[in-house]
Amino acid sequence: MLYNQVQDLKGTIRVYCRVRPFLQGQANGQSTVDYIGENGNIMIVNPLKQGKDARKVFSFNKVFGPNVTQEQIYIDTQPLIRSVLDGFNVCIFAYGQTGSGKTYTMSGPALTTEQTWGINYRALHDLFQISKERADMVKYEVGVQMIEIYNEQVRDLLFTLTICTLDIRNNSQLNGLNVPDASWVPVSSTRDVLELMRIGQNNRAVGATALNERSSRSHSVLTIHVYGKELVSGSILKGCLHLVDLAGSERVDKSEAVGDRLKEAQHINRSLSALGDVISALAQKSGQAKTLMFVHISPEVNAIGETISTLKFAERVA
Ligand code: ADP
Ligand code: MG
Repeated sequence: MLYNQVQDLKGTIRVYCRVRPFLQGQANGQSTVDYIGENGNIMIVNPLKQGKDARKVFSFNKVFGPNVTQEQIYIDTQPLIRSVLDGFNVCIFAYGQTGSGKTYTMSGPALTTEQTWGINYRALHDLFQISKERADMVKYEVGVQMIEIYNEQVRDLLFTLTICTLDIRNNSQLNGLNVPDASWVPVSSTRDVLELMRIGQNNRAVGATALNERSSRSHSVLTIHVYGKELVSGSILKGCLHLVDLAGSERVDKSEAVGDRLKEAQHINRSLSALGDVISALAQKSGQAKTLMFVHISPEVNAIGETISTLKFAERVA
């Protein structure tokens, strides 16, 4: 019973590129995006270079320009997300330098409305909708887990009483991205989800006061766990969706970082460079795993160095 009719999602890694628009107040700036093709090509122009070295084309499964809406982004992600209800494990990563739009894609802007909802709300809304439609065939239960990974430590964002730190390496039950000790919260409506996200965001902000812009230096992972029981056959389906908002991919200049900042920089650089390996391991593990990476770029000229290294990294993963 495969709901997912899309045959081109064969469990391999897909890479989508999204270009952030210029932000208010900097409109009509010079953009480093020269051209976006229909076939997943994007041409970048480097104003610091001359002649044919100034232009470079990168290729991905899809490229979304600055005017693409959250709804359009979701439409191209939906088949993957729906396959979770058929027992697939899906992982969606947001990669890119700080300020390039990772959180916008995964969650939406700070004061989000239904129109600007990111992938996380839309995914849960959709999963509830479909499980309702299938209610006379399958009984589904949905649970979520929200964690933050900072300096190689895992913090549970939904355990609200105290801040609990889970050490990945001490966790013998660790299985892939699973962190069984973090709290699972059952959800049954979009309203539940909105409330949980608020709690999770607040808990994340607790750390931010101690350390500026913590979110740019930590990874956050929302895991949606789906458990389905087919009413006639009694067979069980288990699917899982990981939505990962990664730390900023900008290279931290180690010569300037000391103490805690240096430690952070080393952890981030190490975890991001391991990312390529993790993604391919996920994709090869079984036919039940599907991986999508959203690579984000900022259009401003002063971001050109990071834009090019981000696109090079993403092309290597694709
Ligand atoms: P990151 O998470 O990569 O650091 P953010 O998602 O916080 O970046 O985006 C930086 C700023 O740009 C935010 O103010 C956000 O609302 C805005 N922004 C990002 N992407 C878009 C977009 N596609 N459309 C409109 N505003 C965007
Ligand atoms: Mg962010």
